[in-house]
Parts: sequence; C-alpha cells; structure tokens
Amino acid sequence: MQRQPVVIANWKMNGNRQLAKQMAEALREEAGLLSQVQVVVCPPAVLLPAWQQHVFYDAVHLGAQDVNEFEHGAHTGEHSLALLGEAGAEYILIGHSERRQHYGDTDARISAKVNAVLNYQAQQLKVVLCVGETEAERETHQTTTVVEAQLSAALEQVTAAQMTHVVIAYEPVWAIGTGKTASPAQAQEVHRFIRSWLQQKYAAADTVPLLYGGSVKADNAETLFAEQDIDGGLIGGASLEPDAFVAICRAAV
Ligand code: PEP
Repeated sequence: MQRQPVVIANWKMNGNRQLAKQMAEALREEAGLLSQVQVVVCPPAVLLPAWQQHVFYDAVHLGAQDVNEFEHGAHTGEHSLALLGEAGAEYILIGHSERRQHYGDTDARISAKVNAVLNYQAQQLKVVLCVGETEAERETHQTTTVVEAQLSAALEQVTAAQMTHVVIAYEPVWAIGTGKTASPAQAQEVHRFIRSWLQQKYAAADTVPLLYGGSVKADNAETLFAEQDIDGGLIGGASLEPDAFVAICRAAV
C-alpha cells in the first residue's frame, strides 16, 4: 500500500513571526518536494495568522498543538476548534506526551478531543493522535500494552469512515527532546504492532499514516523513514531549523 509521506513540525512553545517567515521562505523553494510529501507545521496557535500571511500557497498545511474539547464558553486560556480552523489549522495534535504528563490530558479527555475534532461539522479537520511509552514502561516490557491502551481509549468511538481523517504518531516518551532516538528496528516493531492493531478493527487501516517522533534529525531521518510502516515523522527540535527541517522532509520521499 502506497501512502503519501507526512512530516509534521511541532514547534511547541517556540518560534516567532520571524521564524515563520524564514521557514515559509525555505519551504517555498521546495515546490517539487511539497508535491510529494504532506508537510504540516504546528506553530503556537498565536502564530497561525503569521503563517497564513506567509504561506500564500496551498502546499504547506497548518496544524494546532492541542484543542479544547468544548465548543466555546468559560475555558480561559483555551482554543476551540472554530478558532483554530478559522486561523488556518487543518490538523490537530492530540495526546502529545507533554500534555499527557503536565497538562491533564487523561485518556478520557484525549478521547473527548478526538471525537470533537472528527465530529466537527463546520470543517473537515484531521487528528494527529500521539501515543508512546515511558522509559520505565519500555524497560519493563510494557511498550505494546501501553500503546494499545492509549489507542483503544482514544479511538473507542471513532468509526471506520472517520479513521480516514486520523494520523497516528508513535513517540516514545524517552526519545522526545532527549537526543535518544529509537533505532529504526525498535520504531518499526511498534509501528508494525500499531498497523496490525488497526487492521483488526478498520478496513482502511492500511491508509492511516503512521509517523515516528522522538529526536528525529536530518542525519537519522532517512533510515527511520525507510522502514516499511513508518510513513514520516513528527519533528520537535529539528523543526525549528529551516535547513534541517527541509532535509528531514526530503528524507521522507
Ligand atoms: C515532539 O515534541 O513531538 C518531538 C518529537 O520532539 P523532538 O523531535 O525534539 O524529540
């Protein structure tokens, strides 16, 4: 099954208008590449309008790093789907490990956010669901148990038709921002597990892009992306450097 590669930049709480301009200019040089790879940039939400201003072509897609599960109301500091969609987001990251660990994203809340995105009527948005084990969980051989529990909880109410709007990012927590990358074989093993899990539940399982995230850099991207079930990456630190990010996008082709 031929899936289009996907590379997503997660700027976390980094970047500014100047970097948005520089990155947009670097990507603008890459029209050929952008026709082969789905490139998505998730800046902090306040930078989405700056991106819209610079990305005046359709080839780069925008995403948000999180969303509130409610439509609107008394949720100080939060962003609704309507606001993010209006600001240009087409993809929404959900369940990033930093949000699971530090910002109260329980399995129930992640499921509510996934359902909110996929049931949103005003606009067809895509979910990027992040899953992954901690170092202690890997060392005690719980990786697939943990990943399966995260997938089951988050996707419990998702229909087969809705799965065509879901991307899954496997991000081992011990590899995020640490410089410790999973080896291609380690990453592929978990991706294969996720693919098989999806195949048991959804007819369209083979079309779901599975991305690896965790210290992907320009020099290790190619070997990771060469694995059969790795369809691209979710990139943190290296997505703040235009040259490195473009090189990673090239490695996905
Ligand atoms: C991330 O935050 O999703 C991530 C993978 O970060 P990094 O590439 O810096 O490890």
